[in-house]
Amino acid sequence: MSQIFSGGCQCGAVRFQAAHLGRPSICHCRMCQKAFGGFFGAFVSADQAHLTWTRGQPSLFRSSKKVLRGFCPKCGTPLTYHHPGGVELAIGAFDHPEFFEPQVQVNHDRRLPWIDHLFEKPAAADPEMEAAFAATESYQHPDHDTQAWPPNDNSPKDNTNER
Ligand SMILES: [Zn+2]
Ligand SMILES: [Zn+2]
Repeated sequence: MSQIFSGGCQCGAVRFQAAHLGRPSICHCRMCQKAFGGFFGAFVSADQAHLTWTRGQPSLFRSSKKVLRGFCPKCGTPLTYHHPGGVELAIGAFDHPEFFEPQVQVNHDRRLPWIDHLFEKPAAADPEMEAAFAATESYQHPDHDTQAWPPNDNSPKDNTNER
């Protein structure tokens, strides 16, 4: 993939652009569960030479002797996985994560015991909850690059207009 993909953390303090991306994967290891606060980690391998931090930089945590994990120092969004062979980017941090369908499951034997049945669960259908979500006044950075962030406090707050 030589197309340029953009992404960043939830608050927008850290933004990146990347090209020449490799194989998307999920990893079930306990470290990825912790690092993401989730059920697994989701990464796409990247090319360091084609990875640019366009705003801010991730902070790094050394999770093991040879691995560093990058995250936004302001909002904590997991962003990177640095290993001796290269770097990977968190799929959910991309502006368009739908481009990166995982092709392989790493550490499959470490997966949570109920993970294989996760998506058999019914979808919640609660009109009150849906109304509350629809009324959310979001402070999350929009899914595209911005000239300045956060926007000027005098600008009108509008959760449907992502500029
Ligand atoms: Zn952030
Ligand atoms: Zn892992």
